[in-house]
Amino acid sequence: MLRFFRAPSKAEHERARVWAAGALTVLVLLMLMLLIHRPPRIDLTPPPLRAEALPYFAAHVGSCRGSLLAAGFQTRIVPDLNRTPECGYRDVVELVQPAAVTPLQTSCALAAGVALWRRDVVEPAALRHFGQPLASINPLGAYACRRIAGRTDGRWSEHAHANAIDVGSFTLGDGRTISVLQSWRTPAAESAFLHDIRNGSCRIFQGVLSPDYNRAHANHLHLDMGAYKICH
Ligand SMILES: [Zn+2]
Repeated sequence: MLRFFRAPSKAEHERARVWAAGALTVLVLLMLMLLIHRPPRIDLTPPPLRAEALPYFAAHVGSCRGSLLAAGFQTRIVPDLNRTPECGYRDVVELVQPAAVTPLQTSCALAAGVALWRRDVVEPAALRHFGQPLASINPLGAYACRRIAGRTDGRWSEHAHANAIDVGSFTLGDGRTISVLQSWRTPAAESAFLHDIRNGSCRIFQGVLSPDYNRAHANHLHLDMGAYKICH
């Protein structure tokens, strides 16, 4: 009688078992590779514009710009400036909308801080103290390749990476300009306005230096997003 089927030999049985184990291993490895190389989930919703988000924005410019845009502030990217290891910048932006914002080229985290500061601190203070809307914040400068306080040695300033701004005065809707140099101590209303703004700055920025700090800051408020928390 013909035998169409015969029982596999022990060697054939062993070979089949090795093949099955190999195929299973390859399958598991493929699944692991798919898991590892799965594209990261992209969060299309940027975090809301608030002070707690600013440190995150320092390393996430896309989120920073998205958050600013969602809050009504449009930005444009400024070309990188490569100068020396101590000076220059990358991923700097300029606030271009709303038009009332004075053009300033700074790190995005600082731009977000300025937008927040304007909306939540300076505009309310102008209304509270003078019953006037704010026309403009008047900066003295942002990027500058220099060390702290313009010294010839010591730590480099946050200005050297466009991560600081100096603000000299504020103009109200009625055209009046209140300068830090002239009004830090008197008259009373102007002085209270400027002190309120300085105190509000400390809830947003990392570094805030006013005329109370030293004579080098007699004519401006220094605001930065550096690593050191200071409020004077
Ligand atoms: Zn400064």
